Amino acid sequence: MDEFALIRRHFAGLSPARADVLLGIGDDCALLQPSPDRQLAVTSDTLISGRHFPEATAPADIGWKALAVNLSDLAAMGAEPRWFTLALSLPVADADWLAGFAAGLRELATASGIALVGGDTTRGPLSITITAMGEVPPGQALRRDGARAGDLVCVTGTLGDAALALKLLDQPGLPPPLRRRLDRPEPRLKAGLALRGLATAALDLSDGLAGDLGHILAASGVGAEIDLRALPASSHFNGLAPAADRTELMLRGGDDYELCVCLPPEALEEAQQRLDVPLTQIGRITAQPGLRSVDVSGSTQPQDACGYRHF
Ligand code: ADP
Ligand code: MG
Repeated sequence: MDEFALIRRHFAGLSPARADVLLGIGDDCALLQPSPDRQLAVTSDTLISGRHFPEATAPADIGWKALAVNLSDLAAMGAEPRWFTLALSLPVADADWLAGFAAGLRELATASGIALVGGDTTRGPLSITITAMGEVPPGQALRRDGARAGDLVCVTGTLGDAALALKLLDQPGLPPPLRRRLDRPEPRLKAGLALRGLATAALDLSDGLAGDLGHILAASGVGAEIDLRALPASSHFNGLAPAADRTELMLRGGDDYELCVCLPPEALEEAQQRLDVPLTQIGRITAQPGLRSVDVSGSTQPQDACGYRHF
């Protein structure tokens, strides 16, 4: 199958039709009609086999995750998903693998209303780069640089599940819901939209809480104190995480794709009411720089606000 047949067969009809796609897959460029009075939010993420997902991951899960990590960035900005492109490098054009990959991609694209409008297909080691575009009303994007001393630090959902699933991957009896947290992250799109006008700063947790919160602290010129006892855990995590690893998994485990949100104390109740996921207060922003944690005994420790480093 040549590359054009491959694109027609697996990707051309993949996503929902959108009226703002004037010209989709097939020409040199896609032609898109952005909404009047909206800003464009653009993000790219690459997944490399063996680095961003285990090599044995099901193709449908790879398709889902490649889009999910990009939608998570749109969610973290409070942007509504519109269009995406797909740059795919494949060692071989395996029709079964491609059908599975496209099915996982289609499932999430359809659920979130985002249209695949173009891309590139080459031969090489398995690697997937998606560029996703969304729209946000002017001035309403959730940025990293607006946190202020006295704001609460909150997270959606639970922490550490994906890192625990990765750690237990080869062990029998890994509960499917835990495995799903690694393979099929749920981008918090509705939560991101609902937080517009309430959050002072936000980002999505891809590289672990300590490092990612560190980006908000650096961009906002503030510090934070995190209460380790308040970090939200799932029941599977509570049942399976070794006691000695708990804090490390929740503080530094990657791939959660929850949102970390700063907001003034008076906005917390409204935010919790608006969200379709639990929002848990885990700490406070401080004028004193740096990240500190309070442990079970109530003692305060400095924490390295560094996350995963590629180099
Ligand atoms: P060009 O020669 O102009 O670079 P290509 O031959 O790479 O174009 O691609 C032909 C068309 O197919 C273009 O519209 C491109 O956007 C689209 N396309 C290529 N690869 C993909 C893919 N993996 N997913 C979606 N669209 C793709
Ligand atoms: Mg061209």
